[in-house]
Amino acid sequence: MSFNIAIDGPAGAGKSTIAKRAAKELSFTYVDTGAMYRAITLGLMRSGTDIEDARALEEALADIEVTIDYREGVQQVYLNGENVSGQIRTEEVSARTSACAAKPQVRAKLTDLQRGLAERENVLMDGRDIGTAILPNAQLKIYLTASIEARAERRYRELVERGEECSIEEIAKDIEERDYRDMHRQTTPLMQADDAILIDSSDMTIEEVTARIVELARERI
Ligand code: C5P
Repeated sequence: MSFNIAIDGPAGAGKSTIAKRAAKELSFTYVDTGAMYRAITLGLMRSGTDIEDARALEEALADIEVTIDYREGVQQVYLNGENVSGQIRTEEVSARTSACAAKPQVRAKLTDLQRGLAERENVLMDGRDIGTAILPNAQLKIYLTASIEARAERRYRELVERGEECSIEEIAKDIEERDYRDMHRQTTPLMQADDAILIDSSDMTIEEVTARIVELARERI
C-alpha cells in the first residue's frame, strides 16, 4: 500500500516550497494540486468561458484535459497536451483560480487524477482539500498556516527579488480575498481536517518546517 501525506493550508504559507523539499528527503512524489486548478483556469480563460454560465462551463470543461508528468523530478502540468507549467504562475491566473476552483464541476474533474496518483505511489500532495476530501485516509495530514503578515511579507520579498513592483498592502489584500473564497466555498472548502497536525510557520524557517514534516512522516512510515 502506498503512504500518503496530505498538506493543506492557505495561500502563501510556504506549502509548495516545503512540500517539495520534504518529498525529496523522503523520496516521495510531490503532487502540486494547485497547478492542476491553475491549468484548468488557464484553459477557461483562453476559451473566454463565463464560468457563471453552468452550461457554457460544462461545455468548456469537456474540451479541457489536464495531465501531469515529471521532468527531472519536477512536476509538469499539461493543458490538452501543451506544457503550461510556466504560464500558470501569472498574477492573473492566481487571481482567477480560486473562483474557478469553487465550481463543483471543476473540482470533480481533478478528483480521479489526484486519487489515482496517490493510490499508485507514495505521494506528498499539497492543496486545500487533500486531507479533508481527496485523501481522507492519508497516513499523515498537515495543516500548514502562517499569519497574514508573515505570508504577505514572504510574497513581497519574492516579487521584489524577481524585480516586480508591488505593494505589501495589495499583496495582503489579495491573499485575504483568496483565503476567504477558498474557505467559504460550498464544495470542499479549505479547512483543517480533524486529524491533521497544525503547523504555524510564521516564526519558523523553511528548514525547520521541512524537518518537522519529515520527522512526523518517519515516525509513521
Ligand atoms: O496552491 P496554489 O496557490 O497554486 O492554488 C491556487 C488556487 O487553486 C487556490 O487559491 C485554490 O483556490 C485552488 N486550489 C483548490 N484546491 C486544491 C489546490 C488549489 O481549490 N487542492
